[in-house]
Amino acid sequence: MLRTLALLAATGVFVLPLAAQDRGGGGIPRGDCVSPEQTKAILARVEAFRSKQPSAPGIASVDPERYPFQPFAGNLWDDVHTFNFVDLDPSFGLRDFDCLQWTYDTHRGHDTHLHSFAEMDRGVPVFAAIAGVVVDLHDGEPDRNINPSSLPSNYVILWHGGTHYSWYLHLRRNSVAVTLGQRVAGGQQLGLVGSSGNSSWPHLHFESWHDNAHYEPDAGVCRAGASRWVNPIARRRGAWVSDLNIGPGDFHAQPRLPNDYVRQGRWGTGWQYIGFWFQYHDLPPNTTARVRWLRPDDSVAIDSGAGPFGNPAGAVWDWVWFRWWVFCDVVGSWRIEIELNGAVVATMPFDVYTDPLSSPNRPPEPLQSIRFEPAQPSPGDVLFCRVAQGLLRDRDQDLVTQRYLWRINGAIVRDVTHAGRADCLRDDALRPGDLVTCAVTPNDGLANGATRTVSASVAQGACLALSLRGHGHADGSGKPLALGPGARDVGFAPDAGAMSLLAISLQPCGVGLPLGQFAPCTLPAAILLPDPVQGPLLTVGGAALAVPAILPWCFCVQGIELSPLPGGLGFCLKATHGYHLIVRC
Ligand SMILES: [Zn+2]
Repeated sequence: MLRTLALLAATGVFVLPLAAQDRGGGGIPRGDCVSPEQTKAILARVEAFRSKQPSAPGIASVDPERYPFQPFAGNLWDDVHTFNFVDLDPSFGLRDFDCLQWTYDTHRGHDTHLHSFAEMDRGVPVFAAIAGVVVDLHDGEPDRNINPSSLPSNYVILWHGGTHYSWYLHLRRNSVAVTLGQRVAGGQQLGLVGSSGNSSWPHLHFESWHDNAHYEPDAGVCRAGASRWVNPIARRRGAWVSDLNIGPGDFHAQPRLPNDYVRQGRWGTGWQYIGFWFQYHDLPPNTTARVRWLRPDDSVAIDSGAGPFGNPAGAVWDWVWFRWWVFCDVVGSWRIEIELNGAVVATMPFDVYTDPLSSPNRPPEPLQSIRFEPAQPSPGDVLFCRVAQGLLRDRDQDLVTQRYLWRINGAIVRDVTHAGRADCLRDDALRPGDLVTCAVTPNDGLANGATRTVSASVAQGACLALSLRGHGHADGSGKPLALGPGARDVGFAPDAGAMSLLAISLQPCGVGLPLGQFAPCTLPAAILLPDPVQGPLLTVGGAALAVPAILPWCFCVQGIELSPLPGGLGFCLKATHGYHLIVRC
């Protein structure tokens, strides 16, 4: 019956409506990302950590530091997608920062998803959004969950100074790469995206806390105030397809996505039962859809015509599979074309051979582009290397990974292979004048694609950062600069109560101060510690130094740079673990 109908379809006499094709798919279950039990346990450990911090004299709380990048090895709205934001509706309703409903009730973070377990298995790193201290972590839990549950999650919790914490949940089993109490740099790898805990799909749940409450980093009509991202990324709107693959499987008999289906890019001539599946986003209700199968000469083999897709409700993100009989009457490169609401949103080629088994593997498609972010790196930046590639990543439908080979001045500093389309160097990696290079090579499991390389010279003499990381006012508002909120916020180690400056290296100190020593201020700038000084020790490069009783005092670290703050209010410098000291003339 199916064959008959398809034959009719292929000859154009009769086309089975899209809605009547053999199809399946589903929505993505939404539920509590973090079970109440686990939330309670994490908050208790955060409180235990906080209570151990030295207190400081009353300095008003300030805003949490902004995040310079999304904390994962992917490109948002390209290979990874944020599906749930923070629910800002205090009652049973749903409201995200844009007054949409891309959330679920009581959700406290951002859920950013991969396409499948297959990508998860090849690894997608999670990075510290900014420097911090590991205050809690958990690992060892199963990571292939597909149903909401009360299972515990693998996670890392970071403290960023003040009352600012960030949470990273659902990590892949045994992927946690940091230890309790460890200071981590911005951009340091914390683990890999997984589906541990209360999770229905491989995703990162990224949650932010400040002043004992979770908050939404994105600003919008329904979330007043400034964005807590340095470079906010606009939400992608309008129906689009993020993943389209072709395969031969009996989808009825296979586990649902995110278990990947068998893929196949090479087909024989004659009747072929070809399946395909895609993930779609932001679909309006009652969407119309159309599928066309096109021969190598662009002639239409099958056209479903535009018809109801079958979604009475809108969809933030869902997936569907179809399986069609296609009469492949000519050899060459065919393609399938998906149209939603009148616009072609995805195409995928497949190749028809007289003898498909005789064809050798093809390497991955060339990367479309490669770039650094920021394009002109400065010391202290977390430097991202981002690649672009379309829906077609490999003509054989193979899954593709990228090898990121990072060099600084010719020496390899990071060499990782994973499924994400971005990777980064930590914020303590770059020195003024360094030549930094990122070479990316795609691989389909059998062969490498062409390597693309991007390189840049690190700026000389740039300030590491002008933001005060929550410790003062860099807005030029005329408010006094102060170390805030609490001396513990300025980088006192959780155990020793010491303030650490590790491996600072920016500009040479210049004149007047011996390296690594305190002295009365003769330079045009002085570093002020909180008054009274709570941390008895300042450590530099691991060596403890007594804080002198003179205020203000100067301290010289090789390569430090002081940069003027707006409004002539002073200077800032940054330690590699992410805390600033305020410097006044
Ligand atoms: Zn979540």
